[in-house]
Amino acid sequence: MERSNTLQRIEKWLLRETGKAIADYNMIEEGDTVLVCVSGGKDSHTLLHLLRILQAKAPINFRLIAMNLDQKQPGFPAEVLPAYFEKTGVDFRIIEADTYSVVKEKIPEGKTTCSLCSRLRRGIIYRTAKELGANKIALGHHRDDMVHTLFLNLIFGGKLKAMPPKLVTDDGAHVVIRPLAYCAESDIARYSRGMEFPIIPCNLCGSQDNLQRQKIREMMQEWDQKFPGRTEAVFSALQNVVPSHLADTKLFDFKGLKAGLTPAAEGDTLFDPPELPPMLAPRGPLDGDDFPLPVVAGA
Ligand code: SF4
Repeated sequence: MERSNTLQRIEKWLLRETGKAIADYNMIEEGDTVLVCVSGGKDSHTLLHLLRILQAKAPINFRLIAMNLDQKQPGFPAEVLPAYFEKTGVDFRIIEADTYSVVKEKIPEGKTTCSLCSRLRRGIIYRTAKELGANKIALGHHRDDMVHTLFLNLIFGGKLKAMPPKLVTDDGAHVVIRPLAYCAESDIARYSRGMEFPIIPCNLCGSQDNLQRQKIREMMQEWDQKFPGRTEAVFSALQNVVPSHLADTKLFDFKGLKAGLTPAAEGDTLFDPPELPPMLAPRGPLDGDDFPLPVVAGA
C-alpha cells in the first residue's frame, strides 16, 4: 500500500507519543514478554502495530505476543484476526472461551452485561499471560478513555480516580500497561482508517453502550468543540496533582498543619484568583486529508 504523507505524519506522531509514554512510566524493559490484547477494534490494532515498529527500533529486546479472545458472540468473524496476524508475521494466540453464554445466562435481559463480561475476560487474560510467561499485559486504552474514566468516577462515583498508564494486577503477578496513554482517540481513528486494519465491530454482544460513559463522551466532545484542547488539559492535570489543595486527609496531613511549618507546594492562594496558564493549544499531527470510513470485517 502506498502511504500518503498524512498517514506517515500521523504514524510518526503516534509513535512519538507512545514511545514517550513507555519511557515516562518505564512500561517496557529488557527481557519483557508483553501480551498485547487485540480485540480487533481500532485502538488495539493501532497499539499492536505501533509496538511492533517500536520493537524493531528499540535498543532493548522484548517479546510481543498478540492475543485475541474469541468470546463466541454470534457473528464473530473468527477467521479475520488469525489471518491478519499470520499475514503480518506476529506471534499470536487465539483463546476461545464462551463468555457470551455465561453472561447471557447470568444477567437478566435488559441489564448491562459489561461488568461481568469484563471480569471474566480479565481472568482469562491473566491466566493466558501466566501460561505464556508474559510479565506485561498491554491494553489499547488511550488518553480519551482515561479522561472519560476520570469524569465517570468524579461525577457518578464521587472519587477523584482515573485509569492509570501502568498498574500491578490484583494477584501481583503481572504489570498492565497502556502505551497509548498520550494518544488522542481522533488520531488513532484516522490512523486506523488509513492503515485499513481489519476492524471487528464491537457491538456483537448486543449490549447497549454504557449510558453514563456515553454521556461523558458527549460532554467532552462538546467541550472540545467549544474549547479545543480541553481533553488534553484535563489529562495534563492528572500528571500535576497538588494534594495540599484538595481535601483528602489520607493524602495530606491537614490535621497536622500549624503555623511555623514549611508552606505547602503552590502556597497560600486564599485571596488570589486562580492562576490560569494561557489556553493549551491542542497538539497533534498536522491536519491533512482524512481517510475513508473503516473497513468492517465480516460485514
Ligand atoms: S460491550 Fe459486550 S463484549 Fe464489551 S464488555 Fe460489554 S458485554 Fe462484554
